[in-house]
Amino acid sequence: MQDCIFCKIVRGDIPSKKFYEDEQVVAFHDINPCAKTHFLVVPKKHIRSMADIEESDRDLIGHMMFMGQKLAKEQGLKGWKMLFNVEKEGGQVVFHIHLHVLGGGVISLDEC
Ligand code: 5GP
Ligand code: ZN
Repeated sequence: MQDCIFCKIVRGDIPSKKFYEDEQVVAFHDINPCAKTHFLVVPKKHIRSMADIEESDRDLIGHMMFMGQKLAKEQGLKGWKMLFNVEKEGGQVVFHIHLHVLGGGVISLDEC
């Protein structure tokens, strides 16, 4: 997707604080953190929202969740929140699916 900001980050066209990458996903720190640790796990495949996933995306979504918990522990978190905002009414702003992982300090999305 040409105009998608997360596709641009995946391609390296715009900079990010990326700290993990494999064949399927990248993880980078949120530009406007809502907690001491706030990072996003983003699939390289462009999917608009969690309302658009298909049967064939099940493994990818599982991998995103798995990497979210693995990276959370590697960041030193003992507990955290994992969140998907889904579509405009669910608070989604960037329309390329991403898993939020938040831990430490204030972790209410409403407050940031
Ligand atoms: P959403 O509300 O769509 O679930 O969350 C989008 C998130 O992406 C927000 O927390 C926002 O701060 C983050 N974000 C938006 N643009 C950028 C960017 O260019 N770089 C990074 N690292 N995060 C971004
Ligand atoms: Zn995209």
